[in-house]
Amino acid sequence: MSKKILYLASGNKHKRQEMQQILPDYEIRIPSDDGIEFDPVEDGKSFYENSLIKARALWELVKKPVIADDSGICVDALNGEPGIFTSRYAGPDFMHGKPDGSKITQDEQNRFLIQQLNDTGSKDRSCHYTCAMVLLLNKDRFFVAQETFEGELIASIEEQAGSGGFGYDPIVWLPQYQKTVAEISADEKNKISHRGKAVRAIAQILKSLDL
Ligand code: IMP
Repeated sequence: MSKKILYLASGNKHKRQEMQQILPDYEIRIPSDDGIEFDPVEDGKSFYENSLIKARALWELVKKPVIADDSGICVDALNGEPGIFTSRYAGPDFMHGKPDGSKITQDEQNRFLIQQLNDTGSKDRSCHYTCAMVLLLNKDRFFVAQETFEGELIASIEEQAGSGGFGYDPIVWLPQYQKTVAEISADEKNKISHRGKAVRAIAQILKSLDL
């Protein structure tokens, strides 16, 4: 029997892979799989609003159940920044993205974020990832799960470690493992991560709806 299809409103293959691991009974498709160009304007004021914007934009195109994930990293000593601007973060001068929309590399984002925290002089290195996941069944029917994943930013870029995960994972330290997020296995990350927890909550809803 062919698997049920669930669309993921994202271009991020890492997010898809992490979700696919938890939802093996479904085929998770992203817009580019179907040749769909997908770049909605994420002008919401929260992770949840941006997630709903993405879900609605893709639902309009596929008219089938859609999941959207809006996520980011929030650093406590930076008042929760970069938060919803994480993917656009381009250092202290461009916390919410560069005016021309251009992006810097992940490596540069990681260096800037550590430097910016160090420049505050704060001893508090705590941070967390947040993930707001929306399951949209039709225009007016949707479910939301928002979860977090706590860690600490490493002290200097020289301490970055690991090749697993993606994004900021090599610079997020997990005291309970004495490893960065990029050093733990994909299974371990999914057990404790913002995204893993949110997908499992959504999986329960899918099951209860017999979808
Ligand atoms: P979005 O695709 O607009 O939701 O942006 C997500 C941003 O947060 C990207 O810059 C990612 O690198 C970062 N991010 C989200 N989840 C993770 C994660 O699990 N590990 C590392 N970075 C993440």
